Amino acid sequence: MARKMGYENFVALGYRLMQRTDYDENHVAKFRAQVRDEVVPLCIELKRDQAKTLNLESMMAWDEPLYDPRGNPLPKGDHHWLVDQALGMFKSLGGGLDTLFSEMEQRQMLDLSSRPGKAGGGFCSDLPKFGLPFIFANFNGTKDDIEVFTHEMGHAFQNYCSRSKPLSDYVWPTSEACEVHSMGLEFLSWPQMGLFFGAEADRFCKIHLLSSIAFIPYGTAVDHFQHLVYQQPQASPGERAAMWHEMEKTYLPWRRWGDLSNEAGGRFWQGQLHIFVSPFYYIDYVLALVCALQFWDAAEKDRQAAMQQYFALCRRGGEAPFRELVDSAGLQSPFSRGVLEGMVHKARACMKT
Ligand SMILES: [Zn+2]
Repeated sequence: MARKMGYENFVALGYRLMQRTDYDENHVAKFRAQVRDEVVPLCIELKRDQAKTLNLESMMAWDEPLYDPRGNPLPKGDHHWLVDQALGMFKSLGGGLDTLFSEMEQRQMLDLSSRPGKAGGGFCSDLPKFGLPFIFANFNGTKDDIEVFTHEMGHAFQNYCSRSKPLSDYVWPTSEACEVHSMGLEFLSWPQMGLFFGAEADRFCKIHLLSSIAFIPYGTAVDHFQHLVYQQPQASPGERAAMWHEMEKTYLPWRRWGDLSNEAGGRFWQGQLHIFVSPFYYIDYVLALVCALQFWDAAEKDRQAAMQQYFALCRRGGEAPFRELVDSAGLQSPFSRGVLEGMVHKARACMKT
């Protein structure tokens, strides 16, 4: 496709298909270098602490999703209870989140529980003729259910706020900006987590932060790998496996696959759907996370002001490119030197308390 259109390879075309107009692969390459310098060393330290907490001499890849020997905290009720609690959460967050949530519930725009035969995953979409967003999820009684509530409602709320924009392209922003609304709400709803987890709310928040920080090098590894494979479409399967292996050594040096020969041979990337269906998407989660962490930081200083900043960002929809939206919300661009470093320091301090 890229060659027919006169590009040397798919990379630049991939950026254009993602509708990125105010940054390019050089910005992203510099950002990845900051991740290697600032985040990877912190994650090595955090993974060492996690292994100690789990009482493991050497932590294997399959141990990594567990953060606590007591098990990860679980929400304290069934599906109906969760929906009631979520309404309480959105009421105290303000801005009209509760009105939207109850309307979505009444008009059956929330398909949350898993059931036999239902497709996996979770997403938010919009049904413009119906005038409401729609959330699809697979609740299974774990802490992930709560993350889905806040994450997908962030998307839904932004979409609802922007539904009357004059151009349809403004109703959803580009995807890195979209994920600021969703991940931002995950962090802004921390004070409400007691509604779901009771006395274990703090434990939930720490794990949320820890897993978010641990995601940064993984998301960046996927992005780096995509650049390599799309620059070298002639690479053999073995060469692609070697490329991923190198990414794991660089960004996830603690990862141990043991006797899982497929993964140990550099083939874990094959399970990452985005690489095939939405090339170059993945860094968007990482860029958005750096912005969401800034909302978290701002809320700790002045919660009301941070919420207003957040609502104002949602109302702008996609009327500007990523960096302009971020700037207008009073946040710093993740590409600016020192921003990632600042967030990493704050996270480290929070996790050590
Ligand atoms: Zn999302």
